[in-house]
Amino acid sequence: NTSINLKQRPVGTPTLDDFSFEELDDNFTLKNGEMLLVSKYISVDPYLRGRMSDAKSYVPPFKVGEPISSGIVAEVLESKNEKFKEGDFVSGLLQWKEKQVSNGEGLQKIDKSKAPLSAYLGIVGMTGLTAYLGLHEIGKPKQGETMVVSGAAGAVGSVVGQIGKILGLTVIGIAGTDVKIDMLKSDFGFDHGINYKTTKDMKAAIKEAAPNGVDIYFDNVGGPISDAVLFSINQFARIIICGAISVYNKTELPMAVAVQPFLVKNSALMQGFIVSNYADKFPVAMKQLATWLGEDKLTYRETIVEGFENTPQAFLDMMDGKNKGKMIVKV
Ligand code: NDP
Repeated sequence: NTSINLKQRPVGTPTLDDFSFEELDDNFTLKNGEMLLVSKYISVDPYLRGRMSDAKSYVPPFKVGEPISSGIVAEVLESKNEKFKEGDFVSGLLQWKEKQVSNGEGLQKIDKSKAPLSAYLGIVGMTGLTAYLGLHEIGKPKQGETMVVSGAAGAVGSVVGQIGKILGLTVIGIAGTDVKIDMLKSDFGFDHGINYKTTKDMKAAIKEAAPNGVDIYFDNVGGPISDAVLFSINQFARIIICGAISVYNKTELPMAVAVQPFLVKNSALMQGFIVSNYADKFPVAMKQLATWLGEDKLTYRETIVEGFENTPQAFLDMMDGKNKGKMIVKV
């Protein structure tokens, strides 16, 4: 049994040297209320980068020398907890360990017959909820409007765009490779795609893709891409600040264009979004996502990396854009 720990706090872009492996005792004696879990799928997410630093945030930082934790799907090997039995699958925040003991707190039982196990870390998990609730609660989409999504080919972005299409929006996606841009249009039904790495004038490209202006901007990346989108926002535009991955590895934050004039002159709303603040809406959102999936109105992509020991590399690769859709490690 091995755990993956935070060896040191990364400065700038993390590397494999920031992680360490620790051999753990393999003998488990369960107390009443406890169960033994074996990890099956591990989610690697951009927000983990924030937890590797010691800056104050909405989730506490990881401790140096201790295991990293993230969304994990695990199987119950043994149980002295009356809510879970051997052979059940659970999903929730767990540590990067092959095996671990849990009292079940914060874990949900998941149904393998309703969706593949890995999907509970993505489309029918936090990712799907983020896309659905961020778009509905702050974006307030209306049929016929135009939406731009950054980080469009990733886990959250690819779902946001598809929901936009279901709701009758014109959807423009921004992503980092031509293969991803093709995928946005062919697999997810986006109307337009812009490769931010090869486009010289992002402001012009957005204006061209959105001749009627942008009503909703679902922002996963921040930085210069978002500055460029602001030049095209319409009156009463809604801007959902879901993430800012372009600056997560920066040691100094870049100065953005002055956003105030764009917000003032367009009476636009820009609001930060954290999915966990909308827990009361999870059941409704989850039901809708499951229905759309069942009706084939929604689809999803996963990039699955094999092997527990490759979890740190999978995290680094996700931060570097090597994933299409949700990046997941199969243990
Ligand atoms: P993704 O699956 O989108 O993976 C990250 C992607 O970010 C990469 O594939 C890469 O794609 C892109 N990226 C990396 N660096 C840059 C850069 N400098 N500029 C632009 N794009 C970049 O991750 P998630 O879907 O899990 O998360 C997307 C965003 O949503 C993140 O910012 C995350 O923090 C946020 N989030 C927020 C939540 C909330 O509650 N607020 C919950 C979940 C996620 P490419 O090839 O296109 O560069």
